[in-house]
Amino acid sequence: MAIETNKLQSIISHCKEYGFIFPSSEIYDGLQAVYDYGQWGAELKKNIRDHWWNSMTRMHENIVGIDAAIFMHPTVWKASGHVDNFNDPMIDNKDSKKRYRVDHLIEAFSDELQAAGQDDKANEILTQMELLLSKDDFIGLKKLIETNNIKCAISGTCNWTDIRQFNLMFSTEFGSTASSDEEDNKVYLRPETAQGIFVNFLNVQKTGRMKIPFGIAQVGKAFRNEIVARQFIFRMREFEQMEMQFFIRPGTQKEWYEFWKTERMNWHVALGIPAAKYKFHDHAKLAHYADAACDIEFEFPIGFKEVEGIHSRTDFDLKNHQEFSKKKQQYFDNDLDPATGKPYGNYIPYVIETSIGLDRMFLLIMSNAYEEQDLSTAEKQDSRVVLKFPVKLAPIKLAVLPLMKKDGLPELARQLMDDCKSHFKCFYEEKDTIGKRYRRMDALGTPFCVTIDHQTKEDGTVTVRHRDSMEQTRVAMSEVKSLVLGSF
Ligand code: ATP
Repeated sequence: MAIETNKLQSIISHCKEYGFIFPSSEIYDGLQAVYDYGQWGAELKKNIRDHWWNSMTRMHENIVGIDAAIFMHPTVWKASGHVDNFNDPMIDNKDSKKRYRVDHLIEAFSDELQAAGQDDKANEILTQMELLLSKDDFIGLKKLIETNNIKCAISGTCNWTDIRQFNLMFSTEFGSTASSDEEDNKVYLRPETAQGIFVNFLNVQKTGRMKIPFGIAQVGKAFRNEIVARQFIFRMREFEQMEMQFFIRPGTQKEWYEFWKTERMNWHVALGIPAAKYKFHDHAKLAHYADAACDIEFEFPIGFKEVEGIHSRTDFDLKNHQEFSKKKQQYFDNDLDPATGKPYGNYIPYVIETSIGLDRMFLLIMSNAYEEQDLSTAEKQDSRVVLKFPVKLAPIKLAVLPLMKKDGLPELARQLMDDCKSHFKCFYEEKDTIGKRYRRMDALGTPFCVTIDHQTKEDGTVTVRHRDSMEQTRVAMSEVKSLVLGSF
């Protein structure tokens, strides 16, 4: 598959020009792999977050949501395995001093081969890499890099160090003074939101009187000291995750894993995004906590990449928290086991996790929506950029545009704004020609524009202009609210 570098660049520029995403601290030349969401980006992100939250906590009666703190007791990260295992194999180029994540370096090389039409070789290298990674064979991986003459993009040389492990957690200190005994005060910025759910498992189960199977959902910031931090918001050092841990009876994990795989894929496709742009990718190398795992991959402009992970985490986390905290993390199951006719009794639940990056989902929605259209006719050259967002996610649902700034038209437009603005996000604009205003709304992905003109004064009708088809229809102003509400 050709990598649409130009499309990604166009999306990055568009996001900046139209107030979706800015580089962080831009006046100081930015901060690598950290981004700020602007006025329309924040709306789109919030709509994606709310849609996920509602799908999880409203459409499933046995899932509730929490909001745990970013800082957690440092022992959490020992129990979870992150202190010892949250490493990525890295390699440095001795000439440029640039550090690469080994899998990313090899994947980028494979992408280049693919772009040059050498699909077989590209796939063979990826297969070899996955095999070597699954065995932690760092000598073999280095040999793979050297025999394929994979070069550093900066120095252009193949002068590599040995491969080493690098922990991805950020740490800081608690307390007013930097202690001489730094380890005592050391706290981590959470690298995943999941642990906030595990340590609250019993709190929620007891206070919510939850019966297994049940889930706990959470949306929040996570932090990872990513080494290869490029590709815009695809890989950031500060990002947001939307995670759900589903607690189940041991032995039922296979069926629930399959259930959540189907459920999550359906969620994606129900947004109107073509199913062909998605695929599952089973993990060759399982994380330290998993007995089965796959990614939902999407065809981003940078190729098929992970947007969401579905992991069967066994009882790894709860068991370890029980061991490290010395507090029982058990559930008493009253249901009768048909094999014995007695209650299942006490056990540490197993867990299926669904974990999706909010920022990656944002990039997915943006990449799928972004279209450059040539609208030229024999008479004149014309083009537009349109963001074809699903209506329920669009930052602005309705633009209200009085044709002129006089003759009572703004007053009528304000009436429509007042009728609609408490129901969905509306935008009022009276500057520039109507054509220019339509184009600006296309570039923000606004599905409906309403023009108030002189006829409105006579018969109470307005022109509704539809973003995707650019069709214009005449409807009663009093019907606009229900027309928009009925579309999402
Ligand atoms: P990757 O292999 O791309 O590093 P991962 O397998 O480490 O991702 P998980 O730990 O499974 O990712 O995290 C769940 C989700 O969180 C991912 O599917 C992704 O959408 C998101 N995510 C993870 N790391 C980042 C990051 N650095 N920036 C943005 N989103 C991220």
